[in-house]
Amino acid sequence: MTGALLHDRSGRCLCGAVGVQMRDLGADLHACHCDSCRRNNGAMSMTVMVPADALTVTGAEWVETYVSSEWASRSFCRRCGSSLWFRMNQPGSDYYLSAGLLDDLSDMRLAHEIYFDSKPDAWGFAGPTEKLTGAEVEALFADPASDPANPA
Ligand SMILES: [Zn+2]
Ligand SMILES: [Zn+2]
Repeated sequence: MTGALLHDRSGRCLCGAVGVQMRDLGADLHACHCDSCRRNNGAMSMTVMVPADALTVTGAEWVETYVSSEWASRSFCRRCGSSLWFRMNQPGSDYYLSAGLLDDLSDMRLAHEIYFDSKPDAWGFAGPTEKLTGAEVEALFADPASDPANPA
């Protein structure tokens, strides 16, 4: 996470059945261009990283979770279909919460793009971002000493 002010932020799915409250959230947004995120979100995913102990979820009975691979799961609202978050399957792992849920995205910035080599030519972001290929991301996850806060 880069040096930005930490804010408490709130959000919700489209229908409002699922609400989220985040404590001390940084300003960094993460985009992932991998095939799974593209299919799940309609294009790339845009997320904020929230440690499990900094997130409060209301309406949890509306949360449906799809195990999308042997290492990760994706959750969505059972009523409206909004994409909620992506998580590694280990208990207590961080939430990569869909940035679009947030009520207020002011002062936030796109910091990282991962699986950049999977990005279709049809779209791209103009701003300066740190870009990692899929192989670079997988190398980070394979190394337990690396910082898991950066790749989304
Ligand atoms: Zn909903
Ligand atoms: Zn992805």
